[in-house]
Amino acid sequence: MSHNDSIINLLNLKDENIIFDENFCIDGIVKGVKCKVFNATLTYKPKACYSCGHIFDKKIIKYGFKTSDIKIPNVSGFNAYLRLRKQRYFCKHCNSTFILKTNIVKKNCFISNNTKLAIALSAKENQNTCVLMSLSQSNPQLGLCLLFSVIPILDKS
Ligand SMILES: [Zn+2]
Repeated sequence: MSHNDSIINLLNLKDENIIFDENFCIDGIVKGVKCKVFNATLTYKPKACYSCGHIFDKKIIKYGFKTSDIKIPNVSGFNAYLRLRKQRYFCKHCNSTFILKTNIVKKNCFISNNTKLAIALSAKENQNTCVLMSLSQSNPQLGLCLLFSVIPILDKS
């Protein structure tokens, strides 16, 4: 197993297009809270333009990165984030840009799917109120987003 595969396995992130930096974990501060930050890049060749659907060709070019902090389950008691540099492309067919997708988060969400699952599992053990309250106190928007993300998971289980 490669170094990269080991980290992916450790963090339980299921996307082979995520490549971790050499200094993959640093101590950082996100939203004023000390945490562990994992640095990685998401890059692959898309099959087609996300905007116009044109099949990938040389008129679809790499166009920088967009970085987002994605909440992942805590590591050794520390809040943890994946700081993901996502490859952006520019399509000369439709003159628009798009950012690569990853299956570890839903579109426009900044909480990884496995974090939602971890919260859903702890909610099953009646810790939900506690977890959600502590989250919503530091970030009401996050708390609300989590609540609506967790309900469907709980319904299925
Ligand atoms: Zn296009």
